Amino acid sequence: MRVAFSACLLGDPVRYDGGAKPTPEVLELARRVEAVRFCPECAAGLPVPRPPAERVGGRVVCSDGIDVTEAFARGAQASADRIVRSGVSLVVLKAKSPSCGLNVIYDGTYSGKLVSGRGVLAERLEKEGICMVCEDTVKACKPSVEHPVAIVLGTGLGHLKN
Ligand code: SF4
Repeated sequence: MRVAFSACLLGDPVRYDGGAKPTPEVLELARRVEAVRFCPECAAGLPVPRPPAERVGGRVVCSDGIDVTEAFARGAQASADRIVRSGVSLVVLKAKSPSCGLNVIYDGTYSGKLVSGRGVLAERLEKEGICMVCEDTVKACKPSVEHPVAIVLGTGLGHLKN
């Protein structure tokens, strides 16, 4: 089974601050599947490190006031195209990101407040009908008992157990 992951969840140092955000649960899931990694902001050609960005209405704006809406859209499209071409069964997304966030994102005020919403890539993937889960869903599952892939696809654990 092929599953795509936000690259920072797999330990790739691609975040705005040059860091990564791997978790044991996501790494365990990645070991059990054929993992495909993506980072839409890197796909857009944005540097690492880079200023943090948040969605502000229909725009994406960096903390320094630079509008990066077009770059985020370009990177999201490139990553979405790659994910679709890869034929993955599921995408695991980094929480709260202006690109990868699935359920909540920062509200655009740089105050740490969250609002309901999706990142730019998650919006694209939703239009493509791709199955998506947030990293928090993976963290909440015990892989050997209620594997997120099995939950999403409605299948038994079967081949994912070992
Ligand atoms: Fe991680 Fe997505 Fe941000 Fe890239 S764009 S660093 S994959 S959350």
